[in-house]
Amino acid sequence: MPEPQWTEIHEKALAMAWRARSHAWAPYSGFKVGCALMFPGGEIVPGCNVENASYGLTQCAERCAVCAAVARGLLGFTDAIVVTDLKKPAPPCGACRQVLFEFSPGATVWLVGSGGGKSRHIVGELLPEAFRFDGPGR
Ligand SMILES: [Zn+2]
Repeated sequence: MPEPQWTEIHEKALAMAWRARSHAWAPYSGFKVGCALMFPGGEIVPGCNVENASYGLTQCAERCAVCAAVARGLLGFTDAIVVTDLKKPAPPCGACRQVLFEFSPGATVWLVGSGGGKSRHIVGELLPEAFRFDGPGR
């Protein structure tokens, strides 16, 4: 399998992730995160973190993007770009890794920090031994 390459469409998705980040609702932590999922048809679906006064209800940017994509009927993303204003790119939390895995275990995850530095990962590598439900109806 060829190495995933950063392309013009990634640049477009990156800009959308940064824009989504600017909309993040993070009045409690001040930690804003943006995400953009890329699909084979060229669709790009952004997400941002949405905190809540009841902290446990907080939704991460990655899961926000996945929910928005599913609502549009888009399931198999090829790439996820996650942006933060940390110098070192921040990886998705465990919950997001599991949710990303549900739809695209082989997708590429690009983590981008404020300095523009990127790190590249595969969803399945970020979550070895991910939970799978192979029960009735699957
Ligand atoms: Zn998360």
